[in-house]
Parts: sequence; C-alpha cells; structure tokens
Amino acid sequence: MRQLNVYPTSYLAEQESQAQTAGEAAIFYEEFIRNIIKDVIDSKNIIGNFKRDIVISRIFHSLQEKNQFKFFSEYRPGYVRRISEVIMELKLQGITPDIADKILKDSPRLKDLALIYRTYQDFLAENLLYDLEDCQIISADYAGKAKYIEQFDKICFRGFYRLYPIQKKVLEVIVDKGVIVNLPLEHKMKHVNAIKAQNKRIEIEYISKMILRDLEEGIPPQKICIVLPKPKAYKYLLKDAAKEANLSLNFDIKAPLIQNPFVKAFLRLVKEETTDYFVQILLKTNISRHKINKWAEISKSFLADNGYPNRFYNIHSDDPDFVKRDITAFQALIKLLDELEDIGEMAGEEYTDFEGFINFFAPYLRNYSYNCFDSDKEGIRILSLEQIIGLKFEKIYAAGMIEGDFPAELRPDWLIKEDERKRLNEIGYSFDTIDSHLEDEQRCLKFLLASSSTGCFSYPAVLEDNSSSLMSSYIEDILYDLKAEVKDVRLEDMYTSTGFKNFSETLGTISENTRKILGKRFHEEPFSAASLNMYGECPYKFFLARVIGLAAPDEEGEYTAVSRGSAIHKILEIFFKNHKDTLESIKLEEYENEIIFLTESVMENSGVKESFPHPLLFEIEKNEIAKSITNYVGWYVASRGDFKPILFELGFGSKKNFSLDFAPDILLSGKIDRIDEDAQHRLLIIDYKSGSTPDIKEMEDGTNLQMPIYILAAEHILKKPVVGGAFVSVKKGAIDNFIVRDRDLPFISKRQKKGILTQEEWETVMEKTKDTVRAYVNNIREGKFPIEPKKCPKIQSYGSFCDFTQICPWEEF
Ligand code: SF4
Repeated sequence: MRQLNVYPTSYLAEQESQAQTAGEAAIFYEEFIRNIIKDVIDSKNIIGNFKRDIVISRIFHSLQEKNQFKFFSEYRPGYVRRISEVIMELKLQGITPDIADKILKDSPRLKDLALIYRTYQDFLAENLLYDLEDCQIISADYAGKAKYIEQFDKICFRGFYRLYPIQKKVLEVIVDKGVIVNLPLEHKMKHVNAIKAQNKRIEIEYISKMILRDLEEGIPPQKICIVLPKPKAYKYLLKDAAKEANLSLNFDIKAPLIQNPFVKAFLRLVKEETTDYFVQILLKTNISRHKINKWAEISKSFLADNGYPNRFYNIHSDDPDFVKRDITAFQALIKLLDELEDIGEMAGEEYTDFEGFINFFAPYLRNYSYNCFDSDKEGIRILSLEQIIGLKFEKIYAAGMIEGDFPAELRPDWLIKEDERKRLNEIGYSFDTIDSHLEDEQRCLKFLLASSSTGCFSYPAVLEDNSSSLMSSYIEDILYDLKAEVKDVRLEDMYTSTGFKNFSETLGTISENTRKILGKRFHEEPFSAASLNMYGECPYKFFLARVIGLAAPDEEGEYTAVSRGSAIHKILEIFFKNHKDTLESIKLEEYENEIIFLTESVMENSGVKESFPHPLLFEIEKNEIAKSITNYVGWYVASRGDFKPILFELGFGSKKNFSLDFAPDILLSGKIDRIDEDAQHRLLIIDYKSGSTPDIKEMEDGTNLQMPIYILAAEHILKKPVVGGAFVSVKKGAIDNFIVRDRDLPFISKRQKKGILTQEEWETVMEKTKDTVRAYVNNIREGKFPIEPKKCPKIQSYGSFCDFTQICPWEEF
C-alpha cells in the first residue's frame, strides 16, 4: 500500500516527512501539482508571477491606448498587481473569460476587469503559455490520468482545514484514492504568560533573553518558534536582537529588491551618478535606444564587465554579511533580467533609452524581493500565523499581538467589492470576503493554541508613530480563561539584576536543577542511533551538540557531504521502489539510463546547483553519482541471491513513541534505508553510506551502534528474524562492512571473515549493544559529559571528525 500525504505548507510537509512510516511519502501541495502536470506541460511554457505581471501591464496600457476602458481612465501604481491577483482569484474559482463576461457586468469597473482577463487568456493561448494558476486548473483536469497519481493507492490531504474550489476539484477527480484527514485542533496551551513591553524593540530584546534562558534549560532551538501576525514589521528588530544575543534564527524574510544598496546604485546610473559600486556609468546610455529585452541583455553584460558578483568581495572586504546580502540581491536581479530578456517583445516592441528602461523596470524591483536574512535551518523558527498550521513546538512566543493586526483591520477590496463578492458566493463561488478572512484568522488562532503546551504572548504598548496600542482581544480571552497575568516590561527591567539573575550560577558545573531538567528531557526525547554514536565517540561532543545545541558552522546552500548523501539516498530509494519485484541483469543498460535520469532530476531539484563554482563541476558530480549507483545496482543484481527489497526508509520513533523490550523507558528513533527479505522470510538490513562504512570493531567498542539498534528495531517491528545487517559503500558500488549470522548469504565471498558471526557471537553483540545503550542513556540523564573521546580529530588524524575542535578545551584535561 503506497500512500501519499499532501500538506498545505512546505513547513508541515518538512515536519511530517521526518515522521513518515514505511510506504508513506509527504509532499507540499505545490510540488504535488507540479508532479501531476509535468507530463502535459513543458516547464518552459510556464510563466511565473514576474512575467505574468509584465503581460498584464502591457495589456492594460494597450487597452487604455485604444480607449477600450470604461472605468480605468488613468494608470495608477498598484493597479496591475491587484488586477493580476484578482484574475488569479477568478481562475482558481473555475471562472473562464466567458463566465466572467456573464457575471462581471454590473459596473464599468467589473466589465474592464473581464476585458483584461479575456485579453490575457487569449494572449496565453496564442503563445502556448500557462501561468501558475493554469497549472492548478490543468492538474485538476488531468489528475485522474496522471502517471504520478497512478503509483499511489491512497492520497491523503492532511491539514487542509479550508479547501479552495480547485483543490476540491482535484480531490473529486481522484475520488477513489483521495481523502481529507484533519485531526481536531486541540487547545493544548496550558502554561501561558504575557508581556506588555514598552515598545517593539524592548519586546523583541526581552523575548530573546527569555529564549536564551530556554536554551540554557535544555530546549533545543528547533523546538522554539516565534510567531508574528506581521513578520515583516519585526524583521530588522529580530535581526539586531539575534545578533546581540548570538541566537540563530530560521527566518525566511525578504526585502524589496529596490531597497538593496547595490540595486539602488544600479538605478542611480540613470542619473549618471557613480558610487562605490559603479565607478563608471553605463556608456552611451543617453544616446542609445533599444527594446526592453535588449536593455536587459546590455545591463547583464555591463554588470559582468564591472566584475560582479566577485567584486562584492573587494567592496565589503571586512564584512562577509554585506557580501552575502549583495550577492543574494545580485542573483535576484539577474534572474529578473534573464526573464525580461527571455520574454522578448512581450515586454514591449518600442525602442527606448536607458531612462525609459529603468522607468519600466523599477516598479517591478519594488514588488519583487530578495532574501535579506542569513537564515539558519537549525535556528529558532520565525513564522507567520498562517504558516504555523499543524506544526509542533515545545515553546511558542507569539509577539506583536496587537489589536488591529490580530484580529486584523480588514479593508474591503476595491476591485471586486464586498457586496459583489457576497453575491458571487450566493451563486456557488467561494470568494474571499471579510467574514471568510475572519474565519481564517480564528482558525490561525486554533493552530497557534494547538502547536504547543507553553506560550508567551507579547505586544508593544507604544508603536513607531508614538501612538498607543491595545493587546489583541483574542489573547485577552486566552489570558482570562487561563488566569494569566500580564507583566509590564520597560527598558530598565532589561538590565536590573532581578530580570534574568538565574543565568549560569556556577560556570563549568551542572547544577542539581539542570541535572533534573536533563533527566526529564532525556526521558521524553527519543535517542537516535546517531546521537548514541556521538556519545560513544565523545560525551563532551554530545554535550556541545545535543545538550546546549551548538550548531556547526553555517553551510546552508553549500553542497556538503550531508546534501550529497541525501541525494544518493533519494535516488536509491526511488530506483529500488520502481524495481521492487524484478531486477534482471539483461536490463542493466536500461537501469543505467533510469539512474542517469533520476540523478538528473533529484540533483536539479535539490537546490544545490548554485553552490557549484562552475556548471561543469555540477555535471561532473552528477555523472559520478550516477556511475557509482549504476555500479552498485550491477553488483546488487549479481549478488542478491533470492533477497528482494521489501521496505524503504522505514522510520520508527518519530511519530509514535518507540522502545525496545530491554528498556521500555528509553525512547529510540531511526530510519532504516532498506530491508530485503529472502524466500525463507529472513530479513537483511541495508544502510547506504556515501563515505566510509563502520566495521564490527566500532559496533563492539560502542562508537557505532546503528546497525545492532536497527537489527533489534526491525525484529521488534516486523516480528521476523534478521539474518544480517550490511553497509553499502556507494563509492565502492558494493556491500562493504556487515554483520551476519549465516556465512552462506549470497553476497559473502569465501575469503571474507570480518563480520561473519556464530549465533552465539551474534547474541553477544546484541546483548552488549543493549548494555551500552543503557549505560550511555543513564550517563546522559545524570549529566555526565566528560572530555574523554574515543574518536577525536585531536588524537586521530584519520576517521574522526568533530565540529568543535576550535572551542573544545581537550588539551587542558
Ligand atoms: S574535539 Fe575531541 S574532545 Fe573535543 S569535543 Fe570534539 S571529539 Fe570531543
């Protein structure tokens, strides 16, 4: 039974993908749609929002020039964006231009809207283009026949508490497989406190101090979330406070491109102003005339000739943060220029000078953003209220809880007015109205209250314009129900000795209180094999990484060993799922082509392409991965005997508590890459390694317990005997190290000795593993983290790695 779980946000899909059980997969709704339509629409024909807005802008101006409008007598900033949004709303309601002509006719404004919509759709049809909403519409028509859907027995829409008409249509089409599963939104928040801060800055600084205390008490950063009704209003305050308190934030925050200093300097070239970024002006700008798409090409060449992006390193030689910021803005700018060049005369057939080009381009730089924040995936998450749906945290900070922001002061739409929306809803549509926005907001409040048992609500008493604010009435109700007090926080409270006096009473020792907290935490949290291995390698490393949550140096966006390993796992998972029942040696050439295709698709979608200094290096890497996997598949076909793969990525312990009989109080978690079974129903555990593989010695000395733990877990879950566990070295294209209790297994050669155990030796390894797990966990719960490494780069030059060599005082002990 193959089940696909579809989630409304990428955050929820990510959270739930960690907890999938065997035979289940998790996917974000937008990706689900892309997968359905990939057989019917060439991605080259799909236009994103930037191109869509350019097309609608051109249509607007052209219709205006031809005097076709009855309402839009002049062009105003913001028209195009709003018209685009409403056209997308019409499309998602299933309203075609013909229907729009019939239902949008009560006023000149609505008639103009219907005319723009028809002209836009005609344009797309003539040019064989599709916008993102068309992709959804086509997916609903095509879902019943899509190859992608065929591979699943059941498709669950999870967490869709409000379904849009187009989503309902997709479900109707796959009616025999599709179900909606929404768990009741249980109000879990029992421990609540509230803060009325003097202003927003004090609010955020106070929260960051509270978070530091949470971290000190052992809450991992990934289990803390700051929720804001308007995250953008707090973005710079959060950035400053995080820097000050040395906190890592996982914050996907964007700023308009036009606010970036480099982009501003580029625009100032129109006035022939030179800046630190541009010491020469764009030559002959005042006399040359070109079409818009040609200006895009000229601008890109000009930037390249001026040494960008490498030149950022010279300009900001002393500040890597500025380099990162400007490179991100540069990449976003180039992407827009590429798209502008790509759409050719769609952007305009007229010849214009540089000033005309900038006048055309600058408004889009206001609407399109770049990621201005150096986010850390392992840091404290910052989310909007809509994004918290279904997520679970240990502690939630809900900041900016101001009446007017939450509940929001909603302004009725000017393009399709509130009463018109209500009328349309009476004839069967479900347009957004103020009432539906309020319902959405109340649902967000339920998501918030279901996301954690502990919450801190805060708001600033005075706003930026010196006006006073009131606490959100939603939050007042919660505080009243839970009898929680509101604490006043002023500037002086931040620095008095009473504010946070309990920080680190005695440096270097673990207090009795902290020991108790650790005991509680490590009773509730599952231990992964990787975390137990880490304790076995070095208890102090475990302390730094898992207790106080020190992050490794930021490698976000870089192609690391971890991202390489994930890509390899994914390719192998898909390949073996495709060939669960048969694998034949005569089809090796066919398999090779399939692996090349899978590698291409997984690597292209992995988001690491940009981190390769040259596209050729990316190609070389893909070739190497495909070659290694092909070698392994060739070896596997020849050596597997009657073993067949039966389960992939079998997870345990992340969704539901899991423990083994020998220690019911120790929660364990893990994910087994693959399980094979032979004709006698004996199981073989397979783990893929893209680097070196551990041998039996490491299992015996307690520095690598992964395989024995997986063997015990598989026997416990599947109630079948496990005959061995093997590590596949993808580099070598074969099983490398293993432990087995039958020397006649098909992949074992006569010469091999290491890892082949008698039944008695096998049982000894398993018993020793149980004793070691018990000992490690007892030590962790008691707060014992001595600097006594068994594997450490300071004492071994090969085969050991540690993120903390720079800060670890091993030499002093
Ligand atoms: S450097 Fe060595 S002793 Fe220090 S934490 Fe890392 S492994 Fe342990």
